[in-house]
Amino acid sequence: MPATPEQWITALSQTYWTTAGSTGRRVDPLTATRTATRTEAPATVNTKVLDKRTEGLDVIARAERLAREGTPLARREAAAIRDAFVMETEDLTGSTETVRTRACPACGCFTLVPLKGKAQCVNRHCAPRPGLRRRWTYRDLGYTTAGTPSGVRRSEGYPADLRSLAFLTEFFAQSGHKVPLATLARWARLHNLPAHKVDGQKAHLYSLSDAATVHAVQLAAREGQLCGDGARPACTGLADLFYNADDTAGAMDQGLARRRIAVAKELCGECPFLEPCRDFALKPNGKQQHGVAGALTSKERRALKGEAR
Ligand SMILES: [Zn+2]
Repeated sequence: MPATPEQWITALSQTYWTTAGSTGRRVDPLTATRTATRTEAPATVNTKVLDKRTEGLDVIARAERLAREGTPLARREAAAIRDAFVMETEDLTGSTETVRTRACPACGCFTLVPLKGKAQCVNRHCAPRPGLRRRWTYRDLGYTTAGTPSGVRRSEGYPADLRSLAFLTEFFAQSGHKVPLATLARWARLHNLPAHKVDGQKAHLYSLSDAATVHAVQLAAREGQLCGDGARPACTGLADLFYNADDTAGAMDQGLARRRIAVAKELCGECPFLEPCRDFALKPNGKQQHGVAGALTSKERRALKGEAR
């Protein structure tokens, strides 16, 4: 798939460029020997493609003018209009490639899909406050930075976006941030994501929105630059996981509690706020009773504070 406006114009200039819905086969008119069959329509040339080509030449010229201005704003604008052109052209051919590699400016999740010439966030947890958008023009996407993913919220009731783990794996792979199926299954357990069983389905289904939020939060913790707002505590958005990582859990949940503690401590280990967080957690009148804080479990904190159990 072409990645720049220049590459797209070259591709669009081919007479037999086939659009989505045609036979998907390119025909070289000079060497073609096959005869048309009743079941196969000839490769279509979409007139929109011709308009796109002209528009692309104009975009390149405008971007070059802006780049010559050299100010940061002009350079940003040049990049934005080039990006927008690529996304619009992909949309025309039925591809979702570039839109899917962008995090939603509102919720930070990789849940943008092209819809009617715009990028729509399919995360139902997205934009919970009035005034926040869920639909973006491609050009807007070029100007905005990804939002900070907010906390993992559990589905209430019966969400409409239930999907199998296999579907979710495929969905996230398109964003360029792959998650193996086993990891997804582990996240679902660790974060208490409700599993639903639907009639006729063998495997459990999970809410796409829930899983996407966990995916974004995990990525943001690992690759801080995604959020663009500097250092954040590693536990941001993972209150559920950290609070439930408790070594005084009942005997039934011992195994799960141990795994949660291991994950929480691992995240704490890379956290830029480990020292102040630990100091705060070990204050004599510290109130936090449960969960992992400053890479210490509640039991370990009590032991260090010399408190009796
Ligand atoms: Zn969103």
